[in-house]
Amino acid sequence: MHIILLGAPGAGKGTIAKMLVEKYGIVQISTGDILRQAVKEGTEVGKKAAEYMNTGKLVPDSIIMDIIEERIAKPDCAKGFIFDGFPRTIPQAEELAKLFAKKNMAIDAIINLEVPEDVVLRRLTSRRTCSNPGCQAIYNIYTMPPKKDGICDKCGSKLVQRDDETEEAIRVRLETYYEKTQPLIDYYQHNNAYFAVPSLDAQETFDAIVQRLHV
Ligand code: ADP
Ligand code: ZN
Repeated sequence: MHIILLGAPGAGKGTIAKMLVEKYGIVQISTGDILRQAVKEGTEVGKKAAEYMNTGKLVPDSIIMDIIEERIAKPDCAKGFIFDGFPRTIPQAEELAKLFAKKNMAIDAIINLEVPEDVVLRRLTSRRTCSNPGCQAIYNIYTMPPKKDGICDKCGSKLVQRDDETEEAIRVRLETYYEKTQPLIDYYQHNNAYFAVPSLDAQETFDAIVQRLHV
């Protein structure tokens, strides 16, 4: 199964992706997570990507496509995967279509998580992420607080606010989303695999998706 998750920053793509991973035994491919890891490791890709990411701008399409092509060739992708945060631009979607055609692969679902802008803003500023690179659990100080303030329930590491979750970086990320990523909804609108679901409550959103997928 090959799924694309669309939605603004803060729409809940990461949370929903993890729930789908568990249900269907497929892997989550988050370009954001892959890039953050590359930055941390100081690889060539990481060095190039860091300046874009810290200011909330998009990393160039060519870098993203190299990452994707390499990632989907790994053995753990054989059962299927879910793209979280990719494609992010029309050129990425066009390149993805070519890559899939080349590999004889199909997109089974293109899911748009719909959330009003004020909800997105509130979610982004209230998000805390586990600082342990192997965990990266996500919390929300209002709706999903950790049991102990500032500490990850799963692994006990410190929770932090990401560099790109300052008010200024969030403003840029949202502007970038409306300008570059929202047009993807028109691009995929008439694809048979496309559908939209409201994304206010994670469990309800997940249930609605599972029902639509019929598997
Ligand atoms: P968000 O929470 O904004 O969805 P992600 O974790 O998906 O953030 O991505 C963080 C940053 O990584 C983005 O702001 C952008 O700089 C970069 N990035 C991630 N995925 C892509 C992509 N598909 N194309 C371009 N840049 C990307
Ligand atoms: Zn943790």
